[in-house]
Amino acid sequence: MQLVFATHNQNKFEEVRKILPSHIQLRSLTDIGCATEIPETGKTLEENAKLKADYVTKKYALPCFSDDSGLLVDALNGAPGVYSARYAGPQKNANDNMNLLLTELKGVANRAARFKTIIVLNLGAASHMFMGTVEGTITTEKSGSEGFGYDPIFKPKGYDQTFAALPLEVKNTIGHRGQAIKELLAFLKNAQNEQR
Ligand code: IMP
Repeated sequence: MQLVFATHNQNKFEEVRKILPSHIQLRSLTDIGCATEIPETGKTLEENAKLKADYVTKKYALPCFSDDSGLLVDALNGAPGVYSARYAGPQKNANDNMNLLLTELKGVANRAARFKTIIVLNLGAASHMFMGTVEGTITTEKSGSEGFGYDPIFKPKGYDQTFAALPLEVKNTIGHRGQAIKELLAFLKNAQNEQR
């Protein structure tokens, strides 16, 4: 079975390809000849993930899934959320984003936040949604050099270090993306068993 992962991010693609069962041939947007940066105009992670999967399904008529993730901060009513990548501007710079968030939270006692990933899978005529979250807090300063994005200022619940200071395996095990991918995998395995 061929399945498109609607991403141009080669790291994400490889990460998922490695854990998919061998009967699924994962193809990237590049593999199917799609060079378009699919516009993420939705107001929620759910809308954006669906937008990307639907674009591929409509244009290429292939089974496809897409993901969208973000950081939701309680004291900011869920911001930056769907705007996480471009929180401090269209340059999409991780340091600018973290600096802005630390400024916004200066003196704020409630530092609760969560990362959330939504995956939308279009298979046949049906669309399925999977979610992964990880709870934590926003620190008052950056620490660690692993990972990307907001990792240096996000401390997952039950740990004393930020995602950027913890070993990558910890993040992959407890992280939002890993959880959502696990749900997707379980669904695909089930779907295959039902076909037998
Ligand atoms: P994407 O949908 O996976 O591309 O994520 C959108 C944005 O959310 C990223 O550009 C980051 O700013 C933030 N983000 C998502 N996942 C993570 C993560 O695991 N660590 C840190 N930041 C993340």
